[in-house]
Amino acid sequence: MSQPTPTVDACPACGAGDLRVFHSQNSVPSHSVLMLDSQEEALGFPRGDLRIAFCSACGFVTNTVFDVTKNAYSTSYEESQAFSPRFNAFASELAQRWIDTYDIHGKTVLEIGCGKGSFLELITKLGDNKGIGVDPSARYDRLDDPDGRITLVQDLYTEKYSDLPADVVICRHTLEHVHPVAEFMTQVRRAIGDRPETIVLFELPDVQRVLDDLGFWDVYYEHCSYFSAGSLARLFRRTGFEVLDVRREYDDQYLTIDARPSTVPAPGEPLPIEDDIARLTASVDRFATDLPPRLDAWRRQLRDIHAAGGRSVVWGGGSKGVTYVNTLQVGDAVTAMVDINPFMQGKFIAGAGIEIVAPERLVDIRPEVVFLMNPIYLDEVQADLDRLGVDAKLVPV
Ligand SMILES: [Zn+2]
Repeated sequence: MSQPTPTVDACPACGAGDLRVFHSQNSVPSHSVLMLDSQEEALGFPRGDLRIAFCSACGFVTNTVFDVTKNAYSTSYEESQAFSPRFNAFASELAQRWIDTYDIHGKTVLEIGCGKGSFLELITKLGDNKGIGVDPSARYDRLDDPDGRITLVQDLYTEKYSDLPADVVICRHTLEHVHPVAEFMTQVRRAIGDRPETIVLFELPDVQRVLDDLGFWDVYYEHCSYFSAGSLARLFRRTGFEVLDVRREYDDQYLTIDARPSTVPAPGEPLPIEDDIARLTASVDRFATDLPPRLDAWRRQLRDIHAAGGRSVVWGGGSKGVTYVNTLQVGDAVTAMVDINPFMQGKFIAGAGIEIVAPERLVDIRPEVVFLMNPIYLDEVQADLDRLGVDAKLVPV
């Protein structure tokens, strides 16, 4: 196996030089949720490599061979989870918590990486705010904005948007897509300038949970940066923020961090939740040792069902499902991907080239087993299967 050329040898979060690679995979699709119209296009999709490394100095995890030129975010990027009632309930609670905690009423909220803009829509409505969203996949036609509160900029957030006004800066599920994370946070800090009242609110996946679950489906090309509570807070302090709060949310799958600009270097005492380097180190070692046999077990299970004439489908056409099948590479042992998002249905997933179908199609497919990518949706999906009269075994991964 030829080694790809590293794009970094120092930690992009803290600058330390002791990055240790603990998870490698070659030739993975460079995008997981770019919806493709044909199987041919899906199979021939551009690929890149993973060399996932741990920084023992700050706890940050990064893909050392990430190549930003392989990224092509656009409006066909379908990241929205806004079709799930469970996810919507969480987003509403989070918006309300932030509004209540920081009195976000009648303010201007800037969301960096707003996706289709559904969270921005929520926070502007709930708090009677104005919203500005910046994202290459932003789609105003997907918003419900009768009062014209929201402005969308269809672009990546860069220095040229530093002048956009903001009382509150929100950034959800975006920083994990940024490779030079310290540079990015420094840019956000610079844009805020001398407006100390600005509130900065981020949300992103918790790498501790990914490691503990051996959640290889959460490790994919688009995610070049992985944070723990500690590494996230340390990055914020290092780049000129005061950390107000760090929490685990959504069954510990996500982290939220609340911060404000600081004028003194490395301000504030670390919170207890940040003391995590020892635990992370142990989790990284366990991931490296325990993942390969776990992958073999998944492959065996899928092949056995297939060999016995049964069908398996994977519920969740988003990045988790796409990464699951692309990592296992079991060919036609997976018949279809299922997703409730109508914008995904009829499209093909990058890499494996499997079609994404609506739940209703399971009536004809009659799967033996439905592999559920996110256990948090267990009740929701079981209810869908019951409604359709699909008598399949539902297996959360
Ligand atoms: Zn580091």
